[in-house]
Amino acid sequence: MARYPKPVNPNANPQLEPCTAKLPERLSPTAAKDFKQCPRMFWEKKVAKSDDEWRRELSSEQFEVLRGKGTERPFTGKYDHFGGEGTFLCAGCGAELFSSKAKFDSGSGWPSFWEPANSDSVTEKRDSSHGMERTEALCSRCDGHLGHIFPDGPDPTGLRYCINSVSLEFAEGEKGD
Ligand code: FE
Repeated sequence: MARYPKPVNPNANPQLEPCTAKLPERLSPTAAKDFKQCPRMFWEKKVAKSDDEWRRELSSEQFEVLRGKGTERPFTGKYDHFGGEGTFLCAGCGAELFSSKAKFDSGSGWPSFWEPANSDSVTEKRDSSHGMERTEALCSRCDGHLGHIFPDGPDPTGLRYCINSVSLEFAEGEKGD
């Protein structure tokens, strides 16, 4: 069973919320649902908001995709042909999702990545909608819909994270630089 290290300096990254609750030393289903451990040993509370709250914070396009699992039309997104160097964040909650270093031109019409920024940034979920068997990609922090994952990507992972531009916000430069 995993033991959880204590949160370190809570001021190092104000975006992350160190857990103030007394956490169990072992992972209980409740703790797993409400918290995730970020790579910097913080406890990060999951972002949970009502549809009304999301509607107020997001544009209608962002709401339709992130909360309604919609898909932007191919070749229309602002990050499809975009070569900036930095980090792609979740447009819903600001979590780091993808590095520009893992971006490639798949020709699909959507920004594509071969791996997420961290192993736990993106949650995978089986999606049987629209008569297809696909793997949905969700932001691990706010459960926002990002896109889908296909097994036809390039080396080194062979995966293609096919992501809607409206689910992303770009931050130039490496985080922490
Ligand atoms: Fe998010």
